[in-house]
Amino acid sequence: MSQSHATGPRAGLRLMHVHAHPDDESSKGAASTARYVAEGAEVHVVTCTGGERGSILNPKMDRPDILQNISEVRRQEMERARDILGITQHWLGFVDSGWPEGDPKPPLPEGCFGLAPLEEATERLVRLIRSVRPHVLTTYDERGGYPHPDHVRCHEVSVAAFEAAADPERFPEAGPAWQVAKLYYHHSFNRERMQRLHDATVAHGLESPWGERLKEWKPEPEWDARVTTKVPCGDFFGVRDQALLAHATQIDPDGHWFAIPREVQVDVWPTEDFELVTAHVSSATPEDDLFAGVDASYDGS
Ligand SMILES: [Zn+2]
Repeated sequence: MSQSHATGPRAGLRLMHVHAHPDDESSKGAASTARYVAEGAEVHVVTCTGGERGSILNPKMDRPDILQNISEVRRQEMERARDILGITQHWLGFVDSGWPEGDPKPPLPEGCFGLAPLEEATERLVRLIRSVRPHVLTTYDERGGYPHPDHVRCHEVSVAAFEAAADPERFPEAGPAWQVAKLYYHHSFNRERMQRLHDATVAHGLESPWGERLKEWKPEPEWDARVTTKVPCGDFFGVRDQALLAHATQIDPDGHWFAIPREVQVDVWPTEDFELVTAHVSSATPEDDLFAGVDASYDGS
């Protein structure tokens, strides 16, 4: 599926999101993805693992036939989400590490992404970056957004590949060097956002799914202050929701993802938020656009 003939104000601009599992592209940054696609940008999603060890989180899909074919099911779900979002998707080809349960936590399973040599994963991503030549790359923060071993690894690989792709001495077999203009971390799961959504939901006389979690979650003002970039994308929350629902084994349509009415979300927090980590173009923060300071003539040098 090629998007290279897209038209619109963003034609010629390319964005690459690097995610750990199928469904992460729909739960983080999906509405801004849909907005940039609608405006003519080319959006690529790299999925590091096949999500083979994800639990089935939707009771309606917790069936033996699904569980037996989970790799294929998750691949099909990803294809549906890809088409809904209008993205080009690439598998990095690693195996899900799973969520380690127990105290102490068990060792990671042999051959998984979390144990794969950083150099090998970095080379695969460098090859994709040099071939797609994105202007903007996004990944998770150094905590992984949440402490799944694949999310932390995704961060490490993305940061390493962002640097290495620009260095002609590194992986010379993987294509000509390309300096991605901007690197971002996702910051959508912050406490202030959750608190405001919770308050608005309760004010509407509805039950909020976040009460318990908020009680345990101490304010993190320094963490929240790292947000530099709020991308308005409320008009695309509906597309985001459809993409989420495509991941039927992971997303319960009656669960917390959909407990807060979309109108409340648009009213209270109509942006997706990011932290600008590195920029090789000039862009003053705060900003409201991942492509601020970049134009399609940027040549990656
Ligand atoms: Zn994930």
